[in-house]
Amino acid sequence: CGIVAYVGPQDAAPILLEGLQRLEYRGYDSAGLVVSARGSLKLRKVKGRVADLASAVPARFKGNLGIGHTRWATHGEPSDVNAHPHLSNDQRIAVVHNGIIENADELRAKLTADGAEFASETDSEVLAHLIARTVADTANLSEAVRLALKRIVGTYGIAVVDAQRPGEVVVARNGSPIVLGLGEKEMFAASDVAALVRYTRQVVHLEDGELAVIKADGFTTFTMDARETAKEPLVVDWDA
Ligand code: GLU
Repeated sequence: CGIVAYVGPQDAAPILLEGLQRLEYRGYDSAGLVVSARGSLKLRKVKGRVADLASAVPARFKGNLGIGHTRWATHGEPSDVNAHPHLSNDQRIAVVHNGIIENADELRAKLTADGAEFASETDSEVLAHLIARTVADTANLSEAVRLALKRIVGTYGIAVVDAQRPGEVVVARNGSPIVLGLGEKEMFAASDVAALVRYTRQVVHLEDGELAVIKADGFTTFTMDARETAKEPLVVDWDA
């Protein structure tokens, strides 16, 4: 339902929580976030309100990069385990997803046969296991995400982090919106500009079939065929 991502010099968790709060109006049944610090991912996710998630996040939840999600369940009941983010079995990859993966059952069966252990009942979790399998063979996270998405049938807005690449978040869009927010030496992404306007008015909307890598010092966008795209930032006029 709602996605927020941050990379920059600040602590990610308070920014993610603030962004998720701004997406509450869309409705949701659970919320979660991951922050990345010193090569590992810290995860909290709960059934319930963003306020419940905020109480579950300890004060020392440090990390300068992270992704957050509010879930509106489509596959699997609202519960702590079905909340996003979803992690790969080696805890290296974390994914949040909006939308519906139509071939999730088929992919789940293949991944399970290949040794993946699923923690949740969601369609979304296949993404974490797929990306974990492609990331070992690719030079960068965005390529791993691109190759994994080629196997997906359905709709998605996603954000992905890799514990071993602590400077970047990869996002992608197909039928579910993703917008980048450009800050001063920091970058944001979200499913809705409402999550970003407190921090920046400069935005870039992804098109369906586009991916982006966001880093503290900038972003790149490209297509599912790995062709780079040129994007002009827009300035949004919004009373936040
Ligand atoms: N289909 C996913 C799920 O049920 C994502 C739902 C959403 O868009 O929040 O977990």
